[in-house]
Amino acid sequence: MTMLDTFPPTRQAALARVSDLIPSDYARSRNALEGAVTGLSPYITHRLISLPEVLAGVTAKHPLDVQHKFVVELGWREYFRHVWAFRGNEIFESLHEGPLPHASYAAMLPADIRQGATGVPVIDMAVRTLYETGYLHNHARMWLASYIVHVRKVDWRIAADWLYSHLLDGDLASNHLSWQWVAGTGSSKPYLFNADNVARYAPASWHSPGSVIDQSYEALDRLARQPTRRVPTRARAEHDSTTSDALIEPLLLAEPPSDLGWAQPDAAAVAGRDVWLVHPWNLGDLPTTLPANTVVVGVFITDFHRAWPWSERRWRFVATRMAELTALRWRSDATVIGAALQGAARVRSVEEPHLAPWLASLAFCEAAVELFPAVNRRCDSFSQWWTRASRSFATASDLLAARQTPAW
Ligand SMILES: Cc1cc2nc3c(=O)[nH]c(=O)nc-3n(C[C@H](O)[C@H](O)[C@H](O)COP(=O)(O)OP(=O)(O)OC[C@H]3O[C@@H](n4cnc5c(N)ncnc54)[C@H](O)[C@@H]3O)c2cc1C
Repeated sequence: MTMLDTFPPTRQAALARVSDLIPSDYARSRNALEGAVTGLSPYITHRLISLPEVLAGVTAKHPLDVQHKFVVELGWREYFRHVWAFRGNEIFESLHEGPLPHASYAAMLPADIRQGATGVPVIDMAVRTLYETGYLHNHARMWLASYIVHVRKVDWRIAADWLYSHLLDGDLASNHLSWQWVAGTGSSKPYLFNADNVARYAPASWHSPGSVIDQSYEALDRLARQPTRRVPTRARAEHDSTTSDALIEPLLLAEPPSDLGWAQPDAAAVAGRDVWLVHPWNLGDLPTTLPANTVVVGVFITDFHRAWPWSERRWRFVATRMAELTALRWRSDATVIGAALQGAARVRSVEEPHLAPWLASLAFCEAAVELFPAVNRRCDSFSQWWTRASRSFATASDLLAARQTPAW
């Protein structure tokens, strides 16, 4: 099965996932790898669908309390965006010290982890799934991150960059702040897991009895606080003897593959015209209010992608959908795109923090559609933010109704 089968880059596929959600099953089973999670994250990240659309689609069939687990999980995404808005680039460094000083962690991700050949089945299955699909269940992300940081003592920042690049849904706020939560640099304690936890929530092929994680939580906590860098003996032995199991890490690309139909910016195509810029984070349907005669231009701003390369799978996901929205697609740095847009009558787009340093100089940007009311005071914990964001509402429908009121 290809990525396009699992995550077809279409609105219909996103809407079908919304329609399939049964919230009571979600609440009961979401921690299990085979539980009733939505798989919506690639669509939400690239805004093929917005959070209000997701929630409206779900509540049309299943009225929900605002405190329902599904609504809370949507809240986590906006909370991480709230932290990014307030803390900016600080989210790329430890928000505070974790269980050990920085110097105790390695600055490289070991090859056996990259190759899914550690000999610890839960880790190797997670890496294989990541490379094959570009998606990982939340619990698998937590296990992978915890093993890498607390067992293998790798600097969370290096590992977070690696995971971000391979995910279809890679989001710098959700990803890097989740790593900090696992590492204990953005939360009060390290997140730890053991083989019993894996056996409870994952299929048999992920179970890891007798491996380095088959220990009590007390022993794992001691390990997380112990400065020595450890390569588990069993993992090393198996890796050395069975290198044929090693996975090939997908290439990471700073620009879209050449067969995706990109052009260099072309001033003549937009001269004197209204322009609507489509970027990788606003891939929903085009606004119905665009003036007639508007030129729709898709852009990949390479200043961003040079710093944060993507897997080919992700490029194809994004580029296929962008091609559905416009035939005119440019790939270049912000200076060159800006020069080409100079002669346009008006250029508009939607705000996006991933492109914040560049987009504002190219277009007048509308605020992106959010689900929860903005919390204007910095919150350092999800519960603080959640109390403020949700307290005026009893039901999900109240929340949706309020967001249509211009007052906020
Ligand atoms: C180490 C680590 C890295 C992560 N990196 C990313 C990332 O780059 N991009 C990303 O979107 N999420 C990330 N997450 C959060 C979470 O794992 C994914 O959002 C979720 O697994 C996506 O699968 P789903 O759409 O089936 O989720 P569902 O459980 O069906 O949830 C629906 C939607 O709610 C939001 N959501 C649910 N749980 C979370 C959560 N814990 N944090 C933030 N949003 C949530 C997502 O938008 C998700 O699509 C990360 C978590 C961890 C532990």
